[in-house]
Amino acid sequence: MKKKCIVLLSGGLDSTTCLAVAKSQDYDCYTLAIDYGQRHRSELLSSQRVSEYFNANDHKVINIDLRAIGGSALTADIEVPDHDVNKESEIPVTYVPARNTMFMSIALGYAETIGANDMFIGVNAVDYSGYPDCRKEFIQAYEKMANLATKAQVEGQKFTIHTPLIDLTKAEIIKLGVELGVDYGITVSCYNADEDGQACGVCDSCYYRKQGFKDANVKDPTRYLHD
Ligand code: ZN
Repeated sequence: MKKKCIVLLSGGLDSTTCLAVAKSQDYDCYTLAIDYGQRHRSELLSSQRVSEYFNANDHKVINIDLRAIGGSALTADIEVPDHDVNKESEIPVTYVPARNTMFMSIALGYAETIGANDMFIGVNAVDYSGYPDCRKEFIQAYEKMANLATKAQVEGQKFTIHTPLIDLTKAEIIKLGVELGVDYGITVSCYNADEDGQACGVCDSCYYRKQGFKDANVKDPTRYLHD
């Protein structure tokens, strides 16, 4: 019998590649998208498409409305800024407070319910080096916590958090995805994407994605609003 895993799937470039990696390692993949009231609603449609594309065993969307907390340009009335090369070392306003901590908790509960001892998350420490919840130290601490937190783990099963993209550049992620058969045309990364999934081309997420395709020498299939 194949091992089951949970894949946190936002529908963007990184999480989609992460699903492709999990598939290539022969897991039964249960994809999980979180509807947290994000401004870019079209990413939820994208996660559904991507899950179907990779023939995942199931796709679940769980609602946890983080607009009640706010504090981010993705969940409050704060404008999404254009990428600014002078601010690359700062944590941007699109950072969502404690997002991965919360999402991984939901994924952990879901994992225990379906008997999965593995979770895949597409965190990346290269482009978003300032995001505290994308760092190795955080993931290691979280995995340790997970092994203390659940009935399945206390009864002796080891829980593992897989972060196959953590050390890769955007270009390396794209090359890996292309090798594994990802169609990036169905993914949405833009923080300001319109209802139809068209990207703004100027936010941080668009900036790194665009640059990644250039550096990887792969044709960028993203649909941009203005070019
Ligand atoms: Zn954008």
